[in-house]
Amino acid sequence: YAKQRGKNRVERYQARYDELLRRRGTLESELRHAIDREQLRLVFQPVVALPSMRPVGAEALLRWHHPTLGAVRPDEFIPVAEDSGLINRIGSWVLDNACKQLADWLAKGHDVWVSVNLSPKELHAADYAGQVADVLAEHGVPAQRLVLEVTEHAVATDMEELIGRLTELRGTGVRIALDDFGAGYSSLSHLRTLPVDILKIDRLLVAEPESRTGEAAPLVDVVVRLGHRLGLEVLAEGIGTPAQRVAVVEAGCRLGQGSLFGWGVPAEHLEAQLDGLRTGTRPAPQPRNEP
Ligand code: C2E
Ligand code: MG
Ligand code: MG
Ligand code: MG
Repeated sequence: YAKQRGKNRVERYQARYDELLRRRGTLESELRHAIDREQLRLVFQPVVALPSMRPVGAEALLRWHHPTLGAVRPDEFIPVAEDSGLINRIGSWVLDNACKQLADWLAKGHDVWVSVNLSPKELHAADYAGQVADVLAEHGVPAQRLVLEVTEHAVATDMEELIGRLTELRGTGVRIALDDFGAGYSSLSHLRTLPVDILKIDRLLVAEPESRTGEAAPLVDVVVRLGHRLGLEVLAEGIGTPAQRVAVVEAGCRLGQGSLFGWGVPAEHLEAQLDGLRTGTRPAPQPRNEP
């Protein structure tokens, strides 16, 4: 019996594995056409100043809507794009469209910056810094208005190489953010050695105070202080409740992002919010359809 049970388990595992492979294969072949078939778009999640909660920037987040597969989440398709080498083309599309949107907002007088997520493979592409400079010039966007977000997956690779790449990128005038800090393999020493401007605290750390009612958020507190000591701007990600906002503000953090301030929305929606700010009227209600 035990043998039979074991065999069933192996078969079930094999079936699951086959299914996973099929799904990846489908995603990869469909992703190849996603740009040409206009299935990709960007949404923008506001970044707010704290404690005022005034929007000062936005993170561009990629969305893929496929006619039969439906909405595929970036956590699923970005790894497929990375493994298949499609990420460079997709990343260029993202950068180009984010800068186009940023140029439009700046032309309309909005004082904002936009951040874009970078995969390690893009960072290591030949003359990536040159590409970035070209896109900025093409759209007439001042480099300081663009933030490029790198994660610690990138950090896990060759440090010297990475430092060189980031230094080159920064040479164009863009700012670099270290994304998802505190999740996974964070190393405090990276904060000192990496040429970054902004430290984004992962939402797992930000969510921490909720699990210990009444207490301050010791980890957020320490990371904010450390970031400031090193001369970095510190941004808390994934703020979802007023209690989390209070904890983050008490820790001294001056930038925030999360569902409490708004999910990623189409550019027009964020623009309505920015317009409302400028005219002093209340912003249009935001759709709550994410995630
Ligand atoms: P990320 O860069 O850390 O982006 C933040 C993610 O957290 C987004 O998920 C956002 O929708 C979600 N989020 C924001 N606020 C909250 C909150 O209050 N609570 C919760 N639970 N989640 C929140 P999304 O859009 O699904 O993106 C997932 C990841 O996919 C991103 O993580 C980023 O690493 C990657 N990604 C997204 N767009 C791009 C892109 O254009 N290029 C690359 N290379 N990666 C991208
Ligand atoms: Mg990010
Ligand atoms: Mg993040
Ligand atoms: Mg992430």
